[in-house]
Amino acid sequence: MAWASGIEWTEATWNPWHGCKRVSPGCAHCYMYREKRRYGQEPSAVVRSRTTFDSPLRWREPRLIFTCSWSDFFIGEADGWRQEAWDVIRATPQHRYQILTKRPDQIASRLPGDWPLENVWLGVSVENPRFYWRIASLRQVQCRLRFLSLEPLLAPMPSLPLEGISWVIVGGESGPGCRPMRADWVRDIRQRCIAAGVPFFFKQWGGPRKDLGGRMLDGRTWGEMPGGRPARMPRTSRRQDWPPLPVLSPSA
Ligand code: SF4
Repeated sequence: MAWASGIEWTEATWNPWHGCKRVSPGCAHCYMYREKRRYGQEPSAVVRSRTTFDSPLRWREPRLIFTCSWSDFFIGEADGWRQEAWDVIRATPQHRYQILTKRPDQIASRLPGDWPLENVWLGVSVENPRFYWRIASLRQVQCRLRFLSLEPLLAPMPSLPLEGISWVIVGGESGPGCRPMRADWVRDIRQRCIAAGVPFFFKQWGGPRKDLGGRMLDGRTWGEMPGGRPARMPRTSRRQDWPPLPVLSPSA
């Protein structure tokens, strides 16, 4: 079960490479940095995985797969391996790959020739309005599904641009030194999503111990997913396919 993820909005993680470089305030308490240092490894060195590069080829049941949870799929240091990663993705149409990046300006030049692939969702992390440019950049990319991860949410998000966006995840920072997130910031984003008809997923309040904070917001769990599917399918139901998605044009 090494593939199974504790992250609430996915079913599995896949790291064809790991290691990354910090790019913005949301990276300050990156869990990958913490975990790698715990194992005596250098987190800023980007290395190809010796053991898990082709793991999805062995997963026959459909899975939602958070890709590069310990790196950034579009980081330049991985240019030599990305084509092979696209090959793995293309060879496993039963899976849906959730690729989340803080480097959307690097996407366009790193897509495969047969893009857009049916089974790839592209998302950007945005921690405060200074980084709304990442949303604009994502919207320039033709793809099947675009999503936002507003985690760690570090500020209110006035005028959050949601055009062309199909899913929003919100979460507070957790772990040592975490920065607080206010409930009114979260409620405002939820309201914007409801008004725009965008599925809203509230992942966690965060805090020094995220298990204590939980993920209830105003008396309920918000776990909406694109397509109305639950975030985690019961194992017996995983055979259910995702509906086909139309191609979203740039600036949709
Ligand atoms: S981009 Fe993501 S993986 Fe890379 S340092 Fe920042 S938080 Fe960590």
